[in-house]
Amino acid sequence: MDGLQNRERKAALKGAVFHIICPVVAWDAHLYPIARLFFPQKKIRMDREGPIEDLAVEPIGDTGIRVLFQDGSMHEASGQDKESVKRALYDALAQRLGQTLSWGTLVGVRPTKIAQNLLREGCSAQAILNCYETDYRVQPDKAQLAIRVAKTQKELLERFGFGRIGFYLHLPFCPSRCSYCSFLSYPLEPKERLAAYIHALLEDLERTGAHMRQRGLTPSYVYFGGGTPTAPDAKDFERILQGVDRHILRGVHPLEYTVEAGRPDGLTREKLQLMKQYGVTRISVNPQTFCDQTRLCLGRTHSSADVLRAVGWARDAGLEWINMDLILGLPGEGVREVENTLRQTLALGPENITVHGLAYKKGAALWEEALPLAKELPALGTYVTKELMKAGYEPYYLYRNKNTVGHLENIGFSKSGKQCRYNMAMMEEMDSIIACGASAVSKAVVGMDEKGAPMVTRQTSYKDLDLYLEGFEAQMTQKLLLLDEMKP
Ligand code: SF4
Repeated sequence: MDGLQNRERKAALKGAVFHIICPVVAWDAHLYPIARLFFPQKKIRMDREGPIEDLAVEPIGDTGIRVLFQDGSMHEASGQDKESVKRALYDALAQRLGQTLSWGTLVGVRPTKIAQNLLREGCSAQAILNCYETDYRVQPDKAQLAIRVAKTQKELLERFGFGRIGFYLHLPFCPSRCSYCSFLSYPLEPKERLAAYIHALLEDLERTGAHMRQRGLTPSYVYFGGGTPTAPDAKDFERILQGVDRHILRGVHPLEYTVEAGRPDGLTREKLQLMKQYGVTRISVNPQTFCDQTRLCLGRTHSSADVLRAVGWARDAGLEWINMDLILGLPGEGVREVENTLRQTLALGPENITVHGLAYKKGAALWEEALPLAKELPALGTYVTKELMKAGYEPYYLYRNKNTVGHLENIGFSKSGKQCRYNMAMMEEMDSIIACGASAVSKAVVGMDEKGAPMVTRQTSYKDLDLYLEGFEAQMTQKLLLLDEMKP
């Protein structure tokens, strides 16, 4: 009978729209993201009054909250602040659907921030764990993971220090487009477009580099991202590496120089040797999965054998710091496929492994295909984390995307002493970043606020390639003004 009642209750929440009635305008911003967590495929509609289609949320006097379902059942809780409102709806829906969510009511990009702040205040691990579980309904394994990452980050930040200059350049071209991609990525054809972009990027490097010299700004590390930076032919690829060498580095050996080689298609021995020659210290070779059938469905035009070959060539070329990206939640991939991917990745012994939860646009075909497995994913994520830690990899940064299947997070794992500073800098905004290329973001850390958080000013180049080329002068002027705010 209970099972039947449960099924009936869940069925009542089915439909393309999830409807909330709430008379308090200020609560909309707290209720909406919680409803989205439980119903990622639905449109969420909020009204002030009217008949209850799904549920209503209303204040009880000045001190409490009532969640009232369409069938008359209700959930009551105390408090009316932001977190109380979120918790009340979360608890009501979790009870109703018989479903808890890994990260509870947390919807932000950086769930580790809470642990970092509490560690800074001197709280014990147990107190932080209680806070995650009680205030935010985070599951114990995720709370423990967040605390572990926050502790590692604290040590790393003390070691790295704040206030260096990082340099980023961007090449938004790929051999083919992956079906889950939400980044800026253009095909290599027509050749004229790639040629025009490389021409502009080289000018960007030259003029940015000249201004950096005038201002005494020397980069401690370089990150070449994309797209797939290694997608152009060896001649064009070398022109870009030369541009970085001549205009940005000028004889300086950075602490770290990453090229996101990314996809192994188009990666050759020659390009890997060029990277070594120009001082690249770290590369990414990203299998995402070792299941060739899945990869083909994703539109990635390379095989597992290509990944193995590329890693072998990289080691032969003397590149000794390799990251490999994996994705959990790919359509059709369960425990067996993930175990295989993990086994093959570990056998290659990369220094870094980054595990992403699949995130893509709502309504996309891939989303529908992946959903049947979504319930298994939190356990699968926990399994992968445990296996990597057993193999000697420590999680050192963690962030979340919107619309991730199974509410998974993205975690950067590293062997001891091989953590990537650029990734840390992006998480913590601890350094100023000077960037070249379309959609690249330059950031100047201009000080700290009263809570000790960095205050950052940004300049973002156009994402669209044509706009980047047409608006080159205006963007350059803005960027050079931003560089004037950076401290050498
Ligand atoms: S390699 Fe990366 S940037 Fe290129 S299409 Fe695939 S996901 Fe997008």
